Amino acid sequence: MESRREKNLMAEEESDSLIAARRIQRLSLHISPSLTPPSSLPLVQTETCSARSKKLDVDGQALSLYMRGKHMDIQEKIFEFYNSRPDLQTPIEISKDDHRELCMNQLLGLVREAGIRPFRYVADDPEKYFAIMEAVGSVDMSLGIKMGVQYSLWGGSVINLGTKKHRDKYFDGIDNLDYTGCFAMTELHHGSNVQGLQTTATFDPLKDEFVIDTPHDGAIKWWIGNAAVHGKFATVFARLILPTHDSKGVSDMGVHAFIVPIRDMKTHQTLPGVEIQDCGHKVGLNGVDNGALRFRSVRIPRDNLLNRFGDVSRDGTYTSSLPTINKRFGATLGELVGGRVGLAYASVGVLKISATIAIRYSLLRQQFGPPKQPEVSILDYQSQQHKLMPMLASTYAYHFATVYLVEKYSEMKKTHDEQLVADVHALSAGLKSYVTSYTAKALSVCREACGGHGYAAVNRFGSLRNDHDIFQTFEGDNTVLLQQVAADLLKRYKEKFQGGTLTVTWSYLRESMNTYLSQPNPVTVRWEGEDHLRDPKFQLDAFRYRTSRLLQNVAARLQKHSKTLGGFGAWNRCLNHLLTLAESHIETVILAKFIEAVKNCPDPSAKAALKLACDLYALDRIWKDIGTYRNVDYVAPNKAKAIHKLTEYLSFQVRNVAKELVDAFELPDHVTRAPIAMQSDAYSQYTQVVGF
Ligand SMILES: Cc1cc2nc3c(=O)[nH]c(=O)nc-3n(C[C@H](O)[C@H](O)[C@H](O)COP(=O)(O)OP(=O)(O)OC[C@H]3O[C@@H](n4cnc5c(N)ncnc54)[C@H](O)[C@@H]3O)c2cc1C
Repeated sequence: MESRREKNLMAEEESDSLIAARRIQRLSLHISPSLTPPSSLPLVQTETCSARSKKLDVDGQALSLYMRGKHMDIQEKIFEFYNSRPDLQTPIEISKDDHRELCMNQLLGLVREAGIRPFRYVADDPEKYFAIMEAVGSVDMSLGIKMGVQYSLWGGSVINLGTKKHRDKYFDGIDNLDYTGCFAMTELHHGSNVQGLQTTATFDPLKDEFVIDTPHDGAIKWWIGNAAVHGKFATVFARLILPTHDSKGVSDMGVHAFIVPIRDMKTHQTLPGVEIQDCGHKVGLNGVDNGALRFRSVRIPRDNLLNRFGDVSRDGTYTSSLPTINKRFGATLGELVGGRVGLAYASVGVLKISATIAIRYSLLRQQFGPPKQPEVSILDYQSQQHKLMPMLASTYAYHFATVYLVEKYSEMKKTHDEQLVADVHALSAGLKSYVTSYTAKALSVCREACGGHGYAAVNRFGSLRNDHDIFQTFEGDNTVLLQQVAADLLKRYKEKFQGGTLTVTWSYLRESMNTYLSQPNPVTVRWEGEDHLRDPKFQLDAFRYRTSRLLQNVAARLQKHSKTLGGFGAWNRCLNHLLTLAESHIETVILAKFIEAVKNCPDPSAKAALKLACDLYALDRIWKDIGTYRNVDYVAPNKAKAIHKLTEYLSFQVRNVAKELVDAFELPDHVTRAPIAMQSDAYSQYTQVVGF
């Protein structure tokens, strides 16, 4: 294999006719921008490749069709709408205040002019809702988040945490944007630790009202989207305080959600007792008006308690179908996982955009080359392939995994199946944190891969990076969310040994504990043939083995440390181990979904391209963690070397179909509008931007 690849890398001979063809085509691009880009020209490396290295002939249409979501139509409608409205397109340079107004107008345009009503899909067709969110987010990420705050957070809390009376009263106003609103959970002193919130809602039985109070500065609601300028209502998360007839006088029933009007419906003036401040200019997402809210004895009717999981009667009696504060809190947060699902999905959208820009640019950009020969595309450099091809493979992997997550979430919304609820909760936490962390790093890699041109604001990496960065923190900090995945795995590990059932996504653990934790087979640890390394069974076994080992070891460590350090101390002592376990599990789920997607692809050429990407994803991940596999002799030294070589080779092969793979994302031109990545005549586009 090495000699073949060395041959590829050494391939420098290009026939005279090919050189001439390349030059003619490059010149013609300056005349006719619609011609095929140079990426389709013969590549230096491929010309002398052996049969094994031949470029796959991929049916791009079939691949696109397979990748297309069910709701491409509504996405196209959205793109057409904004394309037809230059006044609603976000310019490169814009002040915070103008951006906020533009973003509100973009949302109003979508709802009132284009007639797209996202709220209708929040509960009834979440797949369609996420497709809309992905499309508007690619127009301007601030718009995607503004829409998410209005419909998923504010609207979603009303319909998911409230009951019929709330739906009847608020649905239409939220839907048509008359009732703009906020989701006021985070406080200055408490972000991740939601159970520690300090805002209070005290029931006044004389007036049949709740009184909302901010008891101290640390309880000011902070970072609240839509609060600084546009919101008229807020769903406020506060401790429910009920009067009692005992010596204590009051009882704290834990965190509940309340609808609190914050601005006058007609005048838009801030209502009495409510103070609103602006959180100011942010690193990104400046189209969203984040603000801080303080409440001073703000009275709201009893009906404004979102009472699905707990209610207060006229005489102040508390009722709930759930027995404990913790169970009610869990159920409340469980209803809010939609936001995480949306962020994971949207983050893959951002990854697709940035990978597309960087790869198209790398196909077009030429630097250096063999002596006395034309310069070569920078994507022909092994280092550039190493940066971008595993990323492209990962983008595909995350695409299929998040599509699966959205499907499961929709199913959960319909069936309310308890096991599915638990499964979606952990999967959304894991995928949100894993994918958003990956995309955040990938954005920097893409910027760098485009050299100096990647730094021009017009080429989008700056805004993509700044706007996306916070995806790692809001809707649950990634480090905190990964711990929920680890906790869930440990719970299921315990259940397994107590004979409990495992939910669908997790069921491999049952098998893996028995199969994978026995000593690795001394023969297979040495197998290094390409067929074996590209066998999905080998790849999945390797991922599952790693997760099973991490799980078993950390369970033992926790048990040991808890004797001396207690539960909290033991958890903290093993925290890094737990995070690695959670990531390993999520990677395993991602790979399983990718393998399934390859298997189900009906078109042979598209399937072959997907198989290449899937193998690259799997082997690159194994190689990145090769130390772990070597340490336990799961992989012998010769096999480790073979994995590395094959990973490089697959990167090269994926490079040869990179154009088809990015084209299959079918991102509209305005989304990848970075001039450096335009399909045709990149450089003249670029010079136009700077005014030549
Ligand atoms: C632009 C923006 C928009 C937002 N919009 C809203 C909104 O509309 N509504 C709303 O309610 N909130 C909103 N938020 C708040 C957001 O949800 C919180 O910032 C987030 O939940 C994290 O909380 P925190 O900022 O207090 O971070 P912290 O919880 O203080 O975290 C700080 C650091 O400590 C680490 N850490 C914390 N706990 C642990 C632990 N147990 N183990 C290990 N490490 C830990 C974290 O990993 C992190 O690195 C928004 C925030 C921003 C920046």
